[in-house]
Amino acid sequence: MARQGKRGKSAVQAKQAARPRRAKAQRAKPSAAARGGKPSVAALREQARRSAARFSLLVETAAAPILLLSPDLRILELNAEAERLYGRARARLAGRDYFRALDPGGAGGLTRADLAHVIAGQPARGIEGRVRRADGTERVLLWNATRLLGPAGLPEGIIAVAQDITERQRAEEALREREARMSSIIATAPDAIITIDERGGIQSFSSAAEKLFGYAAGEVIGRNISMLMASPYREDHDAYLARYRRTGEKRIIGIGRQVEARRKDGSLFPVELAVGEVRLGETRIFTGFIRDITVRAHMEQELRQAQKMEAVGQLTGGLAHDFNNLLTVITGNLEMLETRLERAEDRELLGEAQEAAGLGAKLAGRLLAFGRRQPLNPKPIDMNALVAGMSDLLRRSLGASVEIETRLARDLRGTMADPGQVENALLNLAINARDAMPGGGKLTIETAEAAFDVEAAHAASMKPGPYVMLAVQDTGVGMSPEVRQRAFEPFFTTKGPGSGTGMGLSMVYGFVKQSGGHIRLSSEEGRGTAVRIYLPVRDGGAAAASRQPEGAAAPAARGAVILVVEDDQRMRKITVRRLKELGYTVVEADNA
Ligand code: ADP
Ligand code: MG
Repeated sequence: MARQGKRGKSAVQAKQAARPRRAKAQRAKPSAAARGGKPSVAALREQARRSAARFSLLVETAAAPILLLSPDLRILELNAEAERLYGRARARLAGRDYFRALDPGGAGGLTRADLAHVIAGQPARGIEGRVRRADGTERVLLWNATRLLGPAGLPEGIIAVAQDITERQRAEEALREREARMSSIIATAPDAIITIDERGGIQSFSSAAEKLFGYAAGEVIGRNISMLMASPYREDHDAYLARYRRTGEKRIIGIGRQVEARRKDGSLFPVELAVGEVRLGETRIFTGFIRDITVRAHMEQELRQAQKMEAVGQLTGGLAHDFNNLLTVITGNLEMLETRLERAEDRELLGEAQEAAGLGAKLAGRLLAFGRRQPLNPKPIDMNALVAGMSDLLRRSLGASVEIETRLARDLRGTMADPGQVENALLNLAINARDAMPGGGKLTIETAEAAFDVEAAHAASMKPGPYVMLAVQDTGVGMSPEVRQRAFEPFFTTKGPGSGTGMGLSMVYGFVKQSGGHIRLSSEEGRGTAVRIYLPVRDGGAAAASRQPEGAAAPAARGAVILVVEDDQRMRKITVRRLKELGYTVVEADNA
């Protein structure tokens, strides 16, 4: 053991002495072989000594732990790197059994079996192992080991060299981890994520992209991204990328914008696109985040439409209200004149005036309906029963060439609206459908429940919550986009003079809105039309807030006192006068 210790020390001495000695030797004694003469024994000894010194310097300097073990697995020598690895001075290790000298787990990878194989003549390569160092840190090593043969061809020992791959492994692990994290983000992101190279070649295609575009990743990877674009982006994209490579001029990088994209089936849809850029040395890749905004675009359009209708409705409603008041004054006065006229010709003139005033009142009523100012009489409604109750009338109105199908939802909750107006709306929609199917066709009436979330409700200017839907669908000519845009406007009609008033849909619209509901129109030229009316589900507590009972003829009652409150002076005057003629005592006021 002591001898082994000395050997260990000698290696240290060799390390310290080798450099100057070698330098001196080179200067002082050029090699005998170089002079061409026969080398002397002294020269050979000197040569061997220098070779050994060089070798031990090499071993000392190597950035890898190196061990020399005896055939019975004692540590004969180790270099500085091995000392550092084991955290022990070589004096404390040299001569000791390799597996006993080190703490359990400290040996690091090479097992007795490995070393037995090496002694038997099978060099070990790339054996991975871990060493726990004295300071507690763990290093990952890759070992190579070979046996050393003596002059007699017998194994003299084992040389084992380790490579510390701790950092490399850590980096690889970190990379793997990052990759796993990235791919899980990409796989779960609701937006489609696509990366392309500088020339537009698709490099990756996320699963959301597969869903959005209808392509499997394998179908698009390597192909040009323009295949997913609609004109004019499709044609311009290559030129755009080329210009960007040349000039660095950014048009869309870092900025979201709305473009049109193309699915596998060729259909187009609006998307919001944000593009990021990554430079990798000389080249770069682009990442596109693509969000389908079909629903949003649809909602925006619906909101615009609702706002337009709101504005037109306000204007119309205001006008109709004033107009209606004037008509009431006119009809009231005409009515009172009636009893005073004796001559037949006068009565005839009066009759014509009354007829015209009546038509005016009807028109005003429709405009009021559209302007959401008609008097309504909301009652709890069972929509299925209402539809069933209308079926005879509808069948008669639509004629034999139109087939009627009803699809009524089971367990439909009740709604709250003016039943007469709902019937009126259904009839109006059915007649429109009939007009759209001059050669016959099919009318489908459907009821269902539908929920509007906050966003959808906002777009439709209504309250979020559950609604009862009444849908009327036909297989008729459908509407062009222009007609669809304007169908709800009052007086908008595509029907000839005398056959269309353009008031049907506008009245339905106004009524539905006034009832806190919503109406949706989907129609395409040649593909029929569907109009869906949504009315709020009646919440249990809401009683039927019945307004004025209509149609009850006012009985003449002498002596009864009536208070008339009306801010329109003309209206008040005619009302008071008529009541007085009927025998009431009237008190009037212009406000509450
Ligand atoms: P009108 O029926 O008097 O023309 P509406 O307000 O009911 O007025 O309808 C307005 C317009 O909307 C119609 O002239 C027609 O062009 C279009 N329209 C309404 N319903 C349908 C339908 N079911 N199919 C095709 N077009 C329709
Ligand atoms: Mg109509």
